[in-house]
Amino acid sequence: MKKLLAILSVVLFANQASADQLKFEIGDIFSCVTAGNGEKEDHPLGKGSLCCSISSIIFEKLSKELIPTHYINMVGANKMICKTVSIVPLEVICRNRAAGSIVRETTLVEGAPLPQPIVEFFLKDDSKHDPLLTPDRVRLMGYNPDPFVEMTLRINDYLRQMFYILGIDLVDFKVEYGYDAHGDLYLADEISPDSMRLWKIGSDERFDKDLFRNDEGDIVPAYREILDRLQPLAIQ
Ligand code: 5GP
Repeated sequence: MKKLLAILSVVLFANQASADQLKFEIGDIFSCVTAGNGEKEDHPLGKGSLCCSISSIIFEKLSKELIPTHYINMVGANKMICKTVSIVPLEVICRNRAAGSIVRETTLVEGAPLPQPIVEFFLKDDSKHDPLLTPDRVRLMGYNPDPFVEMTLRINDYLRQMFYILGIDLVDFKVEYGYDAHGDLYLADEISPDSMRLWKIGSDERFDKDLFRNDEGDIVPAYREILDRLQPLAIQ
């Protein structure tokens, strides 16, 4: 296999079987967790397979909701087969409550519910510190922001309800998109507690990467708790 690209814990390998598929390997050797633009890094054992399993369940549930995703299937504990897409260099973030950067950069207080979910765009470029973009800047970069907003809100509607049933408040999340060779849009990358804020309803417990960012606890048992809660849904 020819190594194509490495982005944080996700490594893409060309798939020998089909020119239309790529193999995502998300495993223990790729299981680093980073924060502060890569200034802080760790490699917790087991994280790669937890993120892979959680992403896989979420992708499958979203596919059933007719959201096009690049996910094809999971092979082994920590490998996914995904459709080839050209990744859009945007981090698309949806927020239901104020947390993280919106608290640091506005007058909103942590935990404040937003009157309605909002979708924001950030440039996917660590060397520029992933700045917040306006929709006009997204257009100037050559992308129509409207389909990203529409699909992200649909994803939020489904995931927010799904997590609520599991006793978890979906505070916010980040997604990435890609286009296939025909110009069709797909949800891409991964969706895991690395890219979401997941708060236990009615308590201060957190099940996401903020535990690592803020030195508040071990992410592996927290991510396992999310997988345990999701697993009954996987067979439905
Ligand atoms: P914030 O803008 O508050 O930093 O992040 C909002 C949401 O997007 C959080 O759930 C956070 O985990 C996720 N997020 C933001 N940037 C990144 C990123 O570069 N990688 C990942 N995996 N998630 C991100």
